[in-house]
Amino acid sequence: MSYKLPITGGCLCGQVRYSISAEPVGSGNCHCKSCQKAVGAAYLAVLFVHANALDITGTYKEFPTIAASGNKVYRGFCPTCGTALFGRNTAHQEIRPVTAASLDDPAIFQPHVDFWVADAQPWDTMNPDLPKFEKNAKHF
Ligand SMILES: [Zn+2]
Ligand SMILES: [Zn+2]
Repeated sequence: MSYKLPITGGCLCGQVRYSISAEPVGSGNCHCKSCQKAVGAAYLAVLFVHANALDITGTYKEFPTIAASGNKVYRGFCPTCGTALFGRNTAHQEIRPVTAASLDDPAIFQPHVDFWVADAQPWDTMNPDLPKFEKNAKHF
């Protein structure tokens, strides 16, 4: 995997912007039920980046959810336009999930795995070439 750095993104209204200064440590599609609700889609396309490589400008709001793993996950979104932007898993504070759809150029996203496929909807579609994990992926 290789991305041109920095990777930039932000919300629909432009109030919250972010920049990622280091190569993501993982990327995939999460099909868990709480991601489905939070982003209003069949799955969350997500990048995982080192917390110290994620530079955020603008005020965002966090909403706590209990992940299927049992960990508390704060989902960060723009309080003005509601765009889902990034998260914070209290069990893995050093790694921040960032929504691929909020990138300035979402086409650069390179998913490596599908995870939480046990929760996927019957109308969900997946790339058959990607490794599938019933629950959490161990490797990205
Ligand atoms: Zn916004
Ligand atoms: Zn999820």
